[in-house]
Parts: sequence; structure tokens; C-alpha cells
Amino acid sequence: MSVSHRLTAPAPGWTTSTDVVVVGSGVAGLTVALNIRKAGLRAMVVTKAMLDDGSTRWAQGGIAAALGEGDTPEQHLDDTLVAGAGLCDTEAVRTLVTEGPDAVRRLIGVGAAFDLDADGEILLTREGGHHRRRIAHAGGDATGAEISRALVAAVREDPGIELIEHALVLDLLTDTEGHAAGLTLHVMGEGQRDGVGAIRARAVVLATGGMGQVFSATTNPAVSTGDGVALALRAGAEVTDLEFVQFHPTVLWLGPEAEGQQPLVSEAVRGEGAYLVDADGTRFMVGRHELNELAPRDIVAKAITQQMQLKGTEHMYLDGRHFGARMWETRFPTILASCRAHGIDPVTGLIPVAPAAHYASGGIRTDLRGRTTVPGLYACGEVACTGVHGANRLASNSLLEGLVFAERIAADLTALHHAGELPERAVDVAATRAAHAVPLPAPEARAEIQRLMSRGAGVLRSAESMAATAAGLARLAEQAREYAAEGKPGDPRVETWEAANLHLVASALVAAAARREETRGCHWREDFPDRDDADWQRHLVTALAPATGTPVTRSE
Ligand SMILES: Cc1cc2nc3c(=O)[nH]c(=O)nc-3n(C[C@H](O)[C@H](O)[C@H](O)COP(=O)(O)OP(=O)(O)OC[C@H]3O[C@@H](n4cnc5c(N)ncnc54)[C@H](O)[C@@H]3O)c2cc1C
Repeated sequence: MSVSHRLTAPAPGWTTSTDVVVVGSGVAGLTVALNIRKAGLRAMVVTKAMLDDGSTRWAQGGIAAALGEGDTPEQHLDDTLVAGAGLCDTEAVRTLVTEGPDAVRRLIGVGAAFDLDADGEILLTREGGHHRRRIAHAGGDATGAEISRALVAAVREDPGIELIEHALVLDLLTDTEGHAAGLTLHVMGEGQRDGVGAIRARAVVLATGGMGQVFSATTNPAVSTGDGVALALRAGAEVTDLEFVQFHPTVLWLGPEAEGQQPLVSEAVRGEGAYLVDADGTRFMVGRHELNELAPRDIVAKAITQQMQLKGTEHMYLDGRHFGARMWETRFPTILASCRAHGIDPVTGLIPVAPAAHYASGGIRTDLRGRTTVPGLYACGEVACTGVHGANRLASNSLLEGLVFAERIAADLTALHHAGELPERAVDVAATRAAHAVPLPAPEARAEIQRLMSRGAGVLRSAESMAATAAGLARLAEQAREYAAEGKPGDPRVETWEAANLHLVASALVAAAARREETRGCHWREDFPDRDDADWQRHLVTALAPATGTPVTRSE
């Protein structure tokens, strides 16, 4: 199989090569790069903005692993399966929870400094859905920033890892056998490597993170536009479980007009005892779930949304006044600062919160070695669907998944290399030229896609709301086609490429969410309020129809 669709872009004006090209510089991408170096393979890490601009840096709560006394991988597995609502791949979860504790220790070996108690043991907290204290954290609530700092420092020190910042990866290149052979990218102002170019490689690893920017309100940074999923779809790969978008229940509410990335108030705040209350001060989670405010995220997000509807308000409140100033300052310095920057003081007042898009449980389908359905193309981290999260991610399992499966990809590449099965690949230039060039939407389409998705495919979904969203997305595609036919296609540049990726990912997500006629995990259908195991305890797999380039979904 070869790439049937590609973004409209100029032909590459320069070419370079490496052994393995890694797209993305979060926990997943950097872990792959560091680990393949042990086999002597050269790595090139390509990243859209600066090295630490992905979601990893923003992670607050921490990383889950059975490190505490009395805790076991088996208990971590049980909690993960419950959150995943019947759709986790048990083998993938077992891999995560058994390899997780040592992966965290290796991360500490790379230089990440976790918070320790007086005896030098890793401090562990609790988060929603975990029946044990098993969340390791750093700098109080700055876990992701510390992980990112340590990994970035390590890759910078390794001369065998070449780093290319401000480089937007566009599409996959393949050889005549359909094996990944590199990629095309657009580099912003790097001397000889300026504009659209190509990187040839023996294997390609996608670690491009999430797709939160497909919605108007999200905790994800601006780079999280689903580029990896869109690229994989155009390259003929399968994606799965896209309908399962986790909406974080407690995102700082900044007013009705707020758009884009919004500050998160970590679950760990509830883990340490903050309450959710409505404007009357009533704790509405009590009696809804045995874990009260620490119920799994989908339950809390739904409860907040229902309470908002009931009270006719746009947000609820978190009450952490009883922590006192000292605890806020030492345990949650980042959240305290971000609240105060917006004129809210959690020490003396209530924090307004509402749900926002947070985590993509689905993504590019991979096996336990990180291999996608396209030979030589790997995926790990949030962009991948390993089967670990099922219908809903358990809090703080994502950094761990990024670590564990990145290590597994590196192990697979190392084994192939040692077996002499990782040869250089020649790019099939004719196939690339023959691929259909997708017309680019106008840059303004980004905001329109976000509005359509938040309105029709957000926390609340129904056949009617999603039909309206799908119709709006189809209108945008038609507009782009008309412009292209008139000889004035969207100008190829970062904004229009990202808009095209968002459009494709949104269309695939809506196709899956409309097809799943039940409520499960973080997918909540108003018109099908119950979980339906008889018909729906299965996955939805999406791929592009080669002829039309539209997402087609099947269940299995
Ligand atoms: C506010 C917030 C708090 C969170 N808290 C936690 C937590 O406490 N615990 C937990 O486990 N998880 C948490 N998560 C989730 C977790 O941070 C992410 O799932 C994880 O960091 C993803 O890592 P990654 O390496 O897959 O991707 P990212 O860290 O998002 O990195 C993606 C990389 O890909 C690059 N990229 C994207 N597209 C392209 C392209 N086309 N070309 C080149 N480069 C590209 C980006 O620039 C970036 O470098 C949180 C997420 C957010 C947003």
C-alpha cells in the first residue's frame, strides 16, 4: 500500500537522511530517540515549535505506577480496566502496569527529580479512579515540566540525536513496497533547510501528541492539532477509538468568550481533598459515586455538565479554601499562580471550573511493539492507540504509556537493526507525485471547525447534533475544493496545513462518534444514554477510502 493522499505542498527543495526520524519532542518522542541511541542508531527529532512545546510540559498531576508499599501492578491493572469501561486491551494494560515502575525508575536515571519524603522515598498521591496512592509527582504540580526538562537536557547532550525545531511534518514517504521511507516537512527559517524538504529514514516514529485543538476549549497547547493522526490516515494507516475524547472536568473557567488552551486545575487538587460545589455551596458529587469528587473523569465531567444545565450556569466551583495558604503554595504552586493571574485566589475564594477537551484516548492503531498498520511506521504517546485506555483513560496513565511504549518501539527497532532487518529505503517518488493533493481550507476554517465540534461533538452528543457538525465540516471541504477548482487553493502554509489536519481528524472523530450508538466511558450520547455491551463492546476502526479520501468506519 502507498500513500494515496497528501497535503497540497510545494515539492521538497532539500533532502537529508538519518536512521530513524522521530516526529515530536514530548515524553514519547524523546524517550524513543534516547533509547535507540543505545543500539548505535542515529535519530533525528523533528518538532513543530520549540522542544518543550507539547502537552508533556503541561502535565501537572503526575505519573501513575505501582511504586508504593502494598500496591501492585495487578491493582493498577484493575483500576485501569474499570476506567476503560470494557474496551481496554488487557495485554496492553498488563504491559503498561508491569513495565511501568521500572520505566519510571529509568526516567529518574535520566535525571527527572520527583518529589521525595524525608526518607528519600518517592511521594505518591491519589487521583480519580485510583484506589491507591500511586501518582508520583515533581515540583508539586509541575511533573510534566520536570520530565520535559530532564529529557530535553539528555537529548541535547547526545551528538547522535539531531534536533530540528520549528518544523511541521506534512506527510509520509514510502518505498515501492509501501514501507515507510521518510517524510516531508516544512522548516521555518533554518538556513539551508528552509521551506519544504524531505528526510529519508529506515523507519518513522510518530509522537505528535493529542488533538485537543479540534475543540474550542481545551487544556492542550496550540501544537496539539492531530497532525499525526491526519498524516497516518493519509498514509493508509488505521486509527481506532477516536470517539473517546476525555473532557477534563475541572478546567479554569475564564468567561464565555475564552478559546484555545485553558488552564487546568489538576485532579490532584481533588485528590488532596478539594470539593466540587455549586453556587449554593452544595457538594453535588456526594451520593453520585462511591469515590465522590474522585470518581472517574467522565462521571465527574457529566455530573458538572448536568449540574450546569440544571442550574442554568456556565460553570461550577472547586472549593480548596480549607487547604490554607501554605499547602496551596507548596503543593500546588503552578495552579495557585495561574488562578491568581486570572484574578482568582483559591486560598480565600471558590475556583470557577467547567469541562474542556483534554485527552484523546484513541489514535493510530498500534500493536504492543508500537507498529502501526503501515510497515515501518510507528506511533507512541497520545497520538497512538495501544489499547491501554479503552473507552476512557485513567488519570496519569498517559505519561506512563508514552514512556513504556516508546521504550518498546526502541526495543523493536534495536532488534530489527541487530537482525539486519532495518535497511536503508529508497523513496518511491512516482508514488508520492501520484498521491491525491488534498485542497487546503482557508486558515479561518480552524475556528469554524472548533465551534462545530464543541457544539455538536463535545461532552454532549446526539445523532442530531453530530449530523449538524458533519454537515458543517462537509461545507468547509466543499469550499476548499471550489477554491482549488478556481485555481486559488488555500495558500500552503502552517495555518492552512493545520486547518486541513484538524478538518480530517474532526471528520473521522464525528464519523466514529455518530456510529457508536451507546454511552460508554468518555463518549456520552444523549440519545443513547446506556452502555450496550451486546451491540457495542467492540472498537470502531477508521481508515480513508482511497478513492475519495473520506473517513470510513467499521466495527470489530
Ligand atoms: C494541561 C495538561 C495536564 C496533563 N496532566 C497529566 C498528568 O498529570 N499525568 C499524565 O499522565 N498525563 C497528563 N496529561 C496528558 C499528557 O501530558 C500527554 O498525554 C502526554 O504528555 C503526551 O505526550 P506525547 O509525547 O505523546 O505528546 P506531546 O508532549 O504533546 O508532544 C507532541 C510533540 O509533537 C510535536 N508535533 C505535533 N505535530 C507535529 C508536526 N506536524 N510536525 C512536527 N512536530 C509535531 C509537538 O510540537 C510536540 O513536540 C496532561 C495534559 C495536559 C494538556
